[in-house]
Amino acid sequence: MPSFMPPERLLLGPGPSNVSSRILQALARPTIGHLDPQFVGMMDELKALLRYAFITENPLTVPVSAPGSAGMETCFVNLIEAGDTVIVCQNGVFGGRMKENVLRIGATPVMVQDDFGKAIDLNKVAEAFKANPGVKALAFVHAETSTGVESDAQALCQLAHEHGALAIVDAVTSLGGIPLRVDAWGVDAIYSGSQKCLSAPPGLSPVSFGERAVAALKARKTPVQSWFLDLSLVMAYWQGEGARSYHHTAPINMLYGLHESLVMLQEEGLEAAWARHRRNHERLHDGLQRMGLELLVDERHRLPQLNTVCIPEGVEDLAVRRQLLDQHSIEIGAGLGSLASKIWRIGLMGASSHPDSVDRVLAALSQVLKRPL
Ligand SMILES: *Cc1c(COP(=O)(O)O)cnc(C)c1O
Repeated sequence: MPSFMPPERLLLGPGPSNVSSRILQALARPTIGHLDPQFVGMMDELKALLRYAFITENPLTVPVSAPGSAGMETCFVNLIEAGDTVIVCQNGVFGGRMKENVLRIGATPVMVQDDFGKAIDLNKVAEAFKANPGVKALAFVHAETSTGVESDAQALCQLAHEHGALAIVDAVTSLGGIPLRVDAWGVDAIYSGSQKCLSAPPGLSPVSFGERAVAALKARKTPVQSWFLDLSLVMAYWQGEGARSYHHTAPINMLYGLHESLVMLQEEGLEAAWARHRRNHERLHDGLQRMGLELLVDERHRLPQLNTVCIPEGVEDLAVRRQLLDQHSIEIGAGLGSLASKIWRIGLMGASSHPDSVDRVLAALSQVLKRPL
């Protein structure tokens, strides 16, 4: 069997985004031991870099050794116990997964539903709190990758605290792409992913737990049912002062990659990265408009890093995506759930958020759809 040689693709889907050669080089550096003092020094830098990206002072800010879904599960299994009630907002695919997490713990989800393509309605959340006293947590997705919608994370966190609940936030697609301020907004537990706006390969999930979340973890009546994701055990490796003890073998080279991606984010500056995502979104939107293509989401709630484009009448979804991939080597995403075959998802995340990427996908779409640009 020959070695596998992947093609060069322009990745403009819902993640992964393109990984820069600088990060690929970091991944290829020599593997050292996961308890080597030099590696432990790198881990401390990585935690500081993650605190920079999340804008938090939370000591418990670490990457979980698995993709974003494991970060989601880490938040739920550590904070929620059987019998708890959790308000879960669902305005896309990922809210549905939060519900599944709550159910499997033996807790009760109270669902607040909004249409796919709409932001979370704060009034509905306030009503759910009034109707359900003693809610343990409010869980919601900041940037819904399935629909391209941003919800008001700051206002949702405030609502949670007014009702004595923890705020659990999915920031898989928001971290590094749009404003996100963990401490200023009072986020209690948050998870992200390495392969979206951070542009590292998939496989790591940065999480951050604030004081209230750590207190809730310490006050548990039952042990966390997942041994692997139990943060009280993981902390002995990531936080053990002086003596770090073995929990699992860290994905060493992957952590080099995440470290490099965060060094690059810090060099660019968080605010500059947010502004770049916005500029390239506007460039894309201008071109789409020239071709007569519409975005699904209201301007106020559009995510710059994930653009949901309405597929025009009579155009075949799959055929277009196939041509983009086969003839132009460009990957864009399909619609999910109720939006399947109604929209395309054009991601401009991390390194993929670049004027050249925008121009390439616009030119390719113009050719495939036979619409002048
Ligand atoms: C991609 C994504 C996830 C899941 O992350 P994986 O790394 O695929 O497990 C969760 N939530 C949102 C909003 C996402 O975009």
